[in-house]
Amino acid sequence: MALMELYELTIHDLQRLIQRREVTAGQVLRAFLKRIAQEEGKIQAYMTVTGREALARAARLDRRLEQGDQVGSLAGVPLAIKDVICTQGIPTTCSSKILEGFVPPYDATVMKHLYNAGMILLGKTNMDEFAMGSSTENSGYKATRNPWDVSRVPGGSSGGSGAAVAAGLCAGALGSDTGGSIRQPAAFCGVVGLKPTYGRVSRYGLIAFASSLDQIGPMTKDVRDAAIILNVIAGHDRCDSTSVDLPVPDYTTQLGREITGMRIGIPDEYFIEGMDREVETAIRGAIGVLESMGAKAERISLPHAEHAVATYYLVATAEASSNLARYDGVKYGIRARGANDLLAMYTKTRQNGFGAEVKRRIMLGTYGLSAGYYDAYYLKALKVRTLIRKDFEDAFKRCEVILTPTAPTPAFGLGEKTDDPLTMYLSDIFTISANLAGIPGISLPCGFTQAGLPIGLQLLGKPFDESTLLQMAFAYEQATEWHRRKPPL
Ligand code: GLN
Repeated sequence: MALMELYELTIHDLQRLIQRREVTAGQVLRAFLKRIAQEEGKIQAYMTVTGREALARAARLDRRLEQGDQVGSLAGVPLAIKDVICTQGIPTTCSSKILEGFVPPYDATVMKHLYNAGMILLGKTNMDEFAMGSSTENSGYKATRNPWDVSRVPGGSSGGSGAAVAAGLCAGALGSDTGGSIRQPAAFCGVVGLKPTYGRVSRYGLIAFASSLDQIGPMTKDVRDAAIILNVIAGHDRCDSTSVDLPVPDYTTQLGREITGMRIGIPDEYFIEGMDREVETAIRGAIGVLESMGAKAERISLPHAEHAVATYYLVATAEASSNLARYDGVKYGIRARGANDLLAMYTKTRQNGFGAEVKRRIMLGTYGLSAGYYDAYYLKALKVRTLIRKDFEDAFKRCEVILTPTAPTPAFGLGEKTDDPLTMYLSDIFTISANLAGIPGISLPCGFTQAGLPIGLQLLGKPFDESTLLQMAFAYEQATEWHRRKPPL
């Protein structure tokens, strides 16, 4: 430990050091700012680095610590936030040109919780525009690099957050997950990513992509850190009517409990042709590790899984086409110049402001919702969504946790899939169902390819049973060393 740099430490390590006053929040912050100065040029994880505000906040916190004030569980912990989450006074772009210069007049509920817990905001992270994508290449500004191999993508859409955590450019991060955008980049970057149950975390101030699927969650260096952040951000919020009024347990209490006798469902449908051989081997290995700790693996079936991608791309695009109607040059971000009337102004603003993938989704969604096609596409998709949810209800009668790969392949090369949207969509084939069903899912490192790329293991749980997911993930993590490897920067 003595040999580790501050930027390499986990949140729970930093918590301890800061609260015992072995280091100051200022020292921790400066270690991260120095790391950013050294490595960000290579990785391009951030949209905005809020160094000045962070230094002021850390200094205030250190004064309070000196006075012996009570401070929160994240006191002095520097976090990075995906640029889809509104931050008062700090630009929030969704990595879209259309929101260039937009500075929210309010904080998202999760930001309020994090600040109250003493978190130091390091900055806002790059993403696929409006969270549409799986590689962060759809950002309207720049592509983020995978710290394990800078010629590869970090995954997406929370690729900036995933890369920042992996490269030690922050202690932890928030992402958002509509179809896999926390879990898939976590897998590609070799970190932990947790998508909570729909309704567990407030979406107030999360810029909407597909409102019935979106959920905010932590991306961290290990499982305990994910539990610590979830403790802070989970809970009911009057400002989000879809947030659920259930008590928030302490998500760290089940960590370290035995998993003997727990049943793990292995869905037949998730071991498909076309899956990377090294991924499959790593996943089979992980099942073996959990069995050796006394868990019981059992084959299960999720018969409608094959329809998940099609269903998702109807539901998500339909909701997106409606949510993105608000970007018309009137209230937010850029406004096209030189238009003679209102309609021309709308059209020109949207033409210039949105990237190709966002336009594709808006058109698809509008089509699926239009009169004459609504029943055949959108309504049909909603019915299939119900069947997918039922598959999980049935499966969870036989097991506590479902285990799958997070993604069918490790991180792919930059530019490899940009010309083929359908192949890009398939990288979410294993993550999408959890959003359609509303259930929680976690991705954690379970091995590396021969080329040194991380592989992610996904665990899915019953609604509002994040505790059991974290318990099993923690048990696996304790038995393995994958989470300790650092990218060769
Ligand atoms: N990659 C998926 C998509 O492009 C999921 C994105 C997400 O979860 N935000 O829609």
